[in-house]
Amino acid sequence: MWVEVTPFEAEWVDPAPLAHHLRAPRTSESDLTMDTSTAGVTLNTGFVFDVLREYEDSRKLLGPLFAYANGLDPSAPDAVCPIDVYNDACQWIEKNIGLSSIRNAGRAIAERVHDRITSGGRDPKTPIEIVEALKWAADNMIQDPRKRGWVILAREPNRIVVRRTQTFNCIMQEGLLIRLLELTDVTLPSVDHAQCTRRGAQYCEYELRWLRSVG
Ligand SMILES: [Zn+2]
Repeated sequence: MWVEVTPFEAEWVDPAPLAHHLRAPRTSESDLTMDTSTAGVTLNTGFVFDVLREYEDSRKLLGPLFAYANGLDPSAPDAVCPIDVYNDACQWIEKNIGLSSIRNAGRAIAERVHDRITSGGRDPKTPIEIVEALKWAADNMIQDPRKRGWVILAREPNRIVVRRTQTFNCIMQEGLLIRLLELTDVTLPSVDHAQCTRRGAQYCEYELRWLRSVG
């Protein structure tokens, strides 16, 4: 029920400046837009080498791409490097080779993530299990003081919506997500990059759908 609030009542019901203070962070700009800072964020160098492996046959043509791995040791994939190295290499691929190429590299990264998930003792069979495992893998394979990665926004019988909160290449994630869905027990999986920061959205969000589980 709507009740008219007189100036006296308004002063009486909301006397505490502290209340305003506590509410403020929930409506601040930082909560409504993607935090694109990469300061202090590192990830396993294996990610960088997995991406480069996709271009090994063209190494001589792609000198600037392989230069991103200078100083990284391929025999130590669990060592860490700044996430900027990875993001810059992905950006280089997208800009100089193309969108479908970086999307394909995402499929290769999905294989790495899946290997890590299964070797960690998990065996995800369903879309929600694999998305939860992806979130776990991002939390463990990327070191971020702000704990960004993936947020699961919707989980329905034939639909999941995930939000990217980490700075990794958003086109690459299309390939990663579809490959992960293919590794589950569903038929006809699809991924729609429904919201994108490049199109003015506050976050990139992906809608995962499929027709049915097998068996
Ligand atoms: Zn996007």
